[in-house]
Amino acid sequence: MASTKPQLLRNLHVEFIRSLDNKKDSLEYHLTSHLKLNGVYWGLTALDLLGRLDVFEKEDVITFILACQHSNGGFSGNVGHDPHLLYTLSAVQILATLDSLDRIDSARVVDFVKNLQDPESGAFCGDIYGEVDTRFVYVAISCMSILSSLDQIDVDKAVEYINRCKNFDGGYGSVPGAESHSGQIFCCVGALSIVNRLDTVDIDKLGWWLCERQLSNGGLNGRPEKKEDVCYSWWVLSSLAMLDRLHWIDHEKLIEFILGAQDDEAGGIADRPGDMADVFHTVFGLAGLSLLGYPDLKPVDPRYCMTRDVTKRLGL
Ligand SMILES: [Zn+2]
Repeated sequence: MASTKPQLLRNLHVEFIRSLDNKKDSLEYHLTSHLKLNGVYWGLTALDLLGRLDVFEKEDVITFILACQHSNGGFSGNVGHDPHLLYTLSAVQILATLDSLDRIDSARVVDFVKNLQDPESGAFCGDIYGEVDTRFVYVAISCMSILSSLDQIDVDKAVEYINRCKNFDGGYGSVPGAESHSGQIFCCVGALSIVNRLDTVDIDKLGWWLCERQLSNGGLNGRPEKKEDVCYSWWVLSSLAMLDRLHWIDHEKLIEFILGAQDDEAGGIADRPGDMADVFHTVFGLAGLSLLGYPDLKPVDPRYCMTRDVTKRLGL
């Protein structure tokens, strides 16, 4: 029997994202309520990639985002939680996607972000409790870039810090001396790409390490000896795209792997075939497919994980 190639289940994915907001009684909803703002960003970006932003009630989303902002300028993951740099970027990305950045006082957001930079090391903390990680350098740079305020932070120091996190294999870890990991590599390469400092990257060595993440089943893992996972279709692929080495991996096999992780009944994409779908893996699966040139998805900007429509409008 001839096997038919799997297709992207567009309408089911739109329905899956639409249904997320109706699940307020589920345990899952309460366990992840601190991530609500990130969930909105993932769902909204997935819909933008599918060309279906009309599904979101724009004013409802904006009202929710504004209710998550604190007097220090930062945003929390839900109303009444503590502000954090990660949610602050998501809030800015959501407003940028909805062409509504003018609805917030961006000067306060800029203050929140710039106060989290350590003037000595150039690193950023995620919040006032002081945890340091290369993820936060990316988040700060991405956020300041979207708000046209890169001149408000010490970019040279931040680049210096990223370079201190570079390893012998060309990759980057979370702090100096920590092992290379694809998520951290995306953050470091993304930050360097935004500030035009890819000259500091060991491009071929890192490109080789990244393309070695593809396993025989077509999926990508985050570091050696780990299992394949759809979200690495984003962290690894976007890094390869920024390094202009996207052609170093097998596109066909990866497309087949991502499509195989779709839920063909309820919609959504899981971390790997057979697992439960969630909005996080749905957006990164779609963004990965977009980078691979899958038909009828909007082009995605590998530096920001927003559609090119949005980043072009912002002049990025
Ligand atoms: Zn994952």
